[in-house]
Amino acid sequence: MEVSELFSTLHNNPEFSEHETKTLEILKTYIKENTDLKIVDHNNFFYGIHDENADRTIAVRADIDAIANSEGKAFHGCGHDGHSSMACEAARLLSGKKIGKNVIFLFQPAEENGAGAKSCFPMFDENNIDLILGLHNIPSYKMGTVLLTKDSFADASTGICIKFTGAQSHAGCPEEGLNPGFAISNLVCKLDEIINRDIYEKPVLSTLICVNVGEKNYGINAGYGELCLTLRAQKSSDLSILVNTVLDEAKKSVEEVFKDKSSNVTISYELLDEFPSTENTKSEAERICKEIENSSLDYKYLDRPMRWSEDFGNYREKSKSFFFGLGAGEDHPGLHTEEYCFPKELLEIGAKTWVKIIELA
Ligand SMILES: [Zn+2]
Ligand SMILES: [Zn+2]
Repeated sequence: MEVSELFSTLHNNPEFSEHETKTLEILKTYIKENTDLKIVDHNNFFYGIHDENADRTIAVRADIDAIANSEGKAFHGCGHDGHSSMACEAARLLSGKKIGKNVIFLFQPAEENGAGAKSCFPMFDENNIDLILGLHNIPSYKMGTVLLTKDSFADASTGICIKFTGAQSHAGCPEEGLNPGFAISNLVCKLDEIINRDIYEKPVLSTLICVNVGEKNYGINAGYGELCLTLRAQKSSDLSILVNTVLDEAKKSVEEVFKDKSSNVTISYELLDEFPSTENTKSEAERICKEIENSSLDYKYLDRPMRWSEDFGNYREKSKSFFFGLGAGEDHPGLHTEEYCFPKELLEIGAKTWVKIIELA
């Protein structure tokens, strides 16, 4: 089967995070029929080993899940159909070859909701992995250009839902209640100042996602409210500082608004969709980047990390890691837009780039 055919099959069977049953079947069948990889199946994910009985083992991670369009239907708006196809093709190209190392191709589910990488941790207990590699296609860069950084490739981010519980009262007697809407609006006005403080190593960002206070019931003065934000930072350490600062300011906002009654307002919070920053292992990044500079690959260093997040950052807990980008075309529609589709021209180029980088890593 040609890689373009595999791609079309995956493209036409998009599945949401943690529901990638058919996708995994398609990939396993391809790997069995077209490569010499030994498959280790974990049901929610699988990996294939190109085994040379060598001392060094590197892993190549491909993500496989789809996202929702505006109608709530699954579609491959992030190009993971292309990522998994390129990894399959690279595995096919490597089959039967000797490159002096074992290579494990990991097909990881659930990248988009951040749950996938951690679910693949058993692979690290079953194998001695020296290094794990990952890539993402990046629109607005020249097709096939390898995009490099020796530091952080993608931002850390987390959703935070801050819950304020005050006291409900009759709309005719608002002075008898504690309506958290005022504390929430006080906090919202401070967000810009919070992210511009001098306490972070690199720039941080806060995005207002939703405010939810009371119901459309005009007889009631609300007693409960929620503020939901997405917080982002180039470094995971800065993200913790930002979370703590926002929570501190939430408490201060309550004190400023409710003064001596502030102890009657409680604050709790929940973190959702947490992603660490995708930080490359420095020594590995320096070595691999130098090899790429000396190779025939077309490359470019990024000015700053991507503002989106990747769950690949979780693998740092388990192994040395290196993540890079692959240009998807200067005028290509952006990731997660409804116009986006992984460019077919990139399949062969990307697979060959994988093989080169696997060899030099
Ligand atoms: Zn995505
Ligand atoms: Zn993606």
